Amino acid sequence: MTPSFFDEGALVAVLTTQPLDRALDYKAPEGGCHLGAFVEVPLGPRKVLGVVWGAGTGDYDYAKVRSVMRVLDVAPMRDEMRTFLEKAAAYTLTPMPAMLRLATRAPGLGDPPSMRKVYRRGPSEPDRMTDARRRVLEFLAEYGDLAFTLKELADLSGVTSSVIKGLVKQGAVAEEDSPRDLPFAPMDPGRPGKALTEDQARAAGHISAAVKVGTYGTTLLRGVTGSGKTEVYLEAVAACLAAGRQALVLLPEIALTAEFLKRVEERFGARPAEWHSGATMTERRRIWRMVGQGNAQLVIGARSALFLPYQNLGLIVVDEEHDTSYKQEDGVLYNARDMAVLRASLLGAQVVLASATPSLESWANAESGKYTRLDLEARFGPAVMPTMQTIDMRTETLPSNRWVSDTLKRAVDQRLENGEQAMLFLNRRGYAPITLCRACGHQVGCDQCDARMVEHRFLKRLMCHQCGETKPMPTTCPSCEAEDRMAPVGPGVERLGEEAVALFPDARVAVLSSDMYGSARALKAEIEGIAAGAADVIIGTQLVAKGHNFPNLTLVGVIDADLGLQGSDLRAAERTFQLMRQVAGRAGRAEKPGTAMMQTFQPEHPVIRAILAGDEEGFWRAEAAEREAAGVPPYGRMAGIILSGPDVAQVFDAANALARNAAPLTRVGAQVYGPAPAPIARIRGRHRVRLLVKAGKGVALQGAIAQWVGQVHLKGDLRLAVDIDPQSFY
Ligand code: ADP
Ligand code: ZN
Repeated sequence: MTPSFFDEGALVAVLTTQPLDRALDYKAPEGGCHLGAFVEVPLGPRKVLGVVWGAGTGDYDYAKVRSVMRVLDVAPMRDEMRTFLEKAAAYTLTPMPAMLRLATRAPGLGDPPSMRKVYRRGPSEPDRMTDARRRVLEFLAEYGDLAFTLKELADLSGVTSSVIKGLVKQGAVAEEDSPRDLPFAPMDPGRPGKALTEDQARAAGHISAAVKVGTYGTTLLRGVTGSGKTEVYLEAVAACLAAGRQALVLLPEIALTAEFLKRVEERFGARPAEWHSGATMTERRRIWRMVGQGNAQLVIGARSALFLPYQNLGLIVVDEEHDTSYKQEDGVLYNARDMAVLRASLLGAQVVLASATPSLESWANAESGKYTRLDLEARFGPAVMPTMQTIDMRTETLPSNRWVSDTLKRAVDQRLENGEQAMLFLNRRGYAPITLCRACGHQVGCDQCDARMVEHRFLKRLMCHQCGETKPMPTTCPSCEAEDRMAPVGPGVERLGEEAVALFPDARVAVLSSDMYGSARALKAEIEGIAAGAADVIIGTQLVAKGHNFPNLTLVGVIDADLGLQGSDLRAAERTFQLMRQVAGRAGRAEKPGTAMMQTFQPEHPVIRAILAGDEEGFWRAEAAEREAAGVPPYGRMAGIILSGPDVAQVFDAANALARNAAPLTRVGAQVYGPAPAPIARIRGRHRVRLLVKAGKGVALQGAIAQWVGQVHLKGDLRLAVDIDPQSFY
């Protein structure tokens, strides 16, 4: 058994965040160190962050082994967390140092807490009382023993900071150092929540009871948008906090809105810790430390909040569990939803997966009894599900470069007359997806990638959606050099915005697309403004489908319902189904019933028909049967292997060598397909070749893959990435 403490001089194995293939031996420092301690160790000429992972191997000459330099002043990593990182690494075939980096994403972890000056009432009286001085002292008297920063105290008592400094000199105000990393205000789970409907109360009761028992379990909480899923899981959060354990609510980044945080704050009387990409370094450090000490009880965060060092986590909610943004697509390729289930199972914690349109994976896990399924049947209050209609585009006549049919236009006009909002949905950013030369037919592509450049008129440039490379809009054709013959082909949201302005001249038109705002915050502010009524016609990409409330929105027009049905992607039908249902769910959330209209050239397509009929179970059963027949996830296992490098022949050689030496895979009954150029065959100048591995559900795929790819020696600039359970196929 690994000891839990190492005396000075004992050999310890330290896992660092450096890309090495194993932990290194060091001597425990003066005073010894705990198993799991965060430490600084020398590595060559540098000092690096690491964690004491176990006893040292003793494979080295003891005299030459170096000592741990410093034990950081933070709680040691718990056994559970080390096990979690190991299992997550084994599942995703990620090297341990990369996992450790994910778990230490806060700068300056080990620095002593930085200090700031705070001010409170001092022991003396000022020699001379002025109005300003009196205001400060009365303000402080009112707040008893509380301390304030200089700026807070000056602002709140309405004086300049020099007044306060003057009082400090006289001892009437005391100046002290106080650590910056303050605990989060305690949450009050005892505050009353909303009175729940019968349906909601049953679901909340079920999950809360499981949380109180304190064992592992996963619940799929399904209910249409507006049915009160959030109310239900906040009850479960309350039960968890009341039991003295921490809770985590994961949301897709874009759904982390001020509106949501306000709702949580109202429910629990204090602000939760917010972990997202916009958090400052200081905020991240504070959250990381406080979570580890148990001084942050509730964390609301994006994907990577799962890797914080919780002291006693009892509940993980994954809201919008089907959302594709839970799958990280670069660096460590993990799916936060699946890793949440893994972590909870190690902790004896409950997981709630909430969605209006669950992923087929979760649906199947509920069907097979692995997850408990709870359904909320109706929308809360008077709101009802929108009416769904298709517009058969084969019978509509549209002038060229127009995408809004007459039928849809009339429906929008009617909403505008009623003073209501309408949304036109198109899942394509930019102005036009193709820029074409009318003289020679050349389409402008990215120089680095195998992708077309998309015109962004708002930015006045062409942009590659793969690598982000931009270039100015050419006036002469890069191929035949004809002048002024370049033309946009097809619509993006910006172009649709132009059409809407022309069609609805009296309406305020707003285009919502992630690239049109400087930051996620700015975008969220814009969305909130629009929800409050700042626009009449909203043009949006898929980001408007995520969790926002538009109470006055009563019509959603889907410009191209066929868009998602084309790709060769395994999940194309599922994605289209989810997206259309969610977009439709934006309409009629408050008192006014909504309508969703889908423009389509294939109204007979089974997915379109299932959406129309609102027949979710029917759709899932049909989709499940197809996947089961094909032996693909969730009824079979898949992994993608992407090899990339600057030289295409070399990449193919390596991929062919892998395909030829697939014995470790065939031994376990897995098959290899490829190599083939990846759907996007070149990104940032690197050629990409893909192999696909398929296996039966019970196959221990990771071990076989590790053995298989371990055989090749990657020469030069060649890289290999393994994507277990690939979500997108690029
Ligand atoms: P979902 O998460 O399923 O989209 P929400 O929990 O956000 O649904 O509920 C939708 C709206 O209805 C919210 O404004 C919420 O406050 C309100 N609501 C839901 N249930 C209740 C309830 N039992 N009492 C009062 N308001 C409720
Ligand atoms: Zn590119």
